[in-house]
Amino acid sequence: MTDGWFEEKLFPHVRQTFEITRTLFRERTEHQDLVIFETPTFGRVLALDDIVQVTEKDEYVYHEMMTHVPILAHGKVRKVLIIGGGDGGILREALKHKVEKVTMVEIDRGVVDMCLKYMPSIPVKAFADKRTDLVIDDGAKFMAKAGEKYDVIVVDSTDPIGPGEVLFTEEFYRNCRQRLTDSGILVNQNGVPFMQDSEVTMTYKRRRKHFKDTGFYVAAVPTYYGGFMTLGWASPNPKNRAVPQAAIEARYKAARLKTKYYTPAIHKAAFALPRFVESLF
Ligand code: SAM
Repeated sequence: MTDGWFEEKLFPHVRQTFEITRTLFRERTEHQDLVIFETPTFGRVLALDDIVQVTEKDEYVYHEMMTHVPILAHGKVRKVLIIGGGDGGILREALKHKVEKVTMVEIDRGVVDMCLKYMPSIPVKAFADKRTDLVIDDGAKFMAKAGEKYDVIVVDSTDPIGPGEVLFTEEFYRNCRQRLTDSGILVNQNGVPFMQDSEVTMTYKRRRKHFKDTGFYVAAVPTYYGGFMTLGWASPNPKNRAVPQAAIEARYKAARLKTKYYTPAIHKAAFALPRFVESLF
């Protein structure tokens, strides 16, 4: 951060900068460098190790698409597991559904605490919901243990550098399959293919060994630089991806969801990938 500007350092030869009106918090936690700052255009922004994680202005795009696509495709979700997601956005969206329990395994308590304090519009009351079960742990270690199964697993991790790296391994995906019900769905943050094409190829190869249906869908998140991002999809049940739009619409209406990006039409359209992305896997 220099002279009133935050510079994101995700890519070697390209950087995006945000004007800072106020730095609200900065600390090196046990796991990563955590900063929350205010900007004129995107509201408050959380960055970890100089990589933009979430902004108040555009968080709904990613959180709605990572949550409602798998839950509405599945249709009868009782238990959701979130790996990462410490800002609480996925948790907030998942709790809008009639689920029994949402377990969140987040490695860094500091992210939860600071987002509750400085970016309350994201978690809102999700962490206080009686269905929320917050576990502070490494998601890879949590998945390696035997335990209850989930209908949807959302891997809302940082990029595959630093603490997030273990959440992109084949072993992690294999363990996710063991903890998923037979009609369950795993979705994961899979980077911006225009800038991070190897992440598409890498995760596809690792996931397809353990899931009958493996693919991607896309969402356009303005502050994830480089065009739309890919969200990884994996399920033992190929039918989950083929649910007709009319059924998705009926489930959306029944759930009485209020969304700003997600629509049943975008749900289906998001799986239509450009040729250059298809050629990556
Ligand atoms: N939406 C963002 C994105 O697409 O990059 C991710 C946001 S969320 C803040 C990412 C979270 O993953 C962080 O809170 C970080 O602490 C957490 N995380 C990273 N590695 C982890 C691990 N091994 N186990 C659990 N949580 C982890």
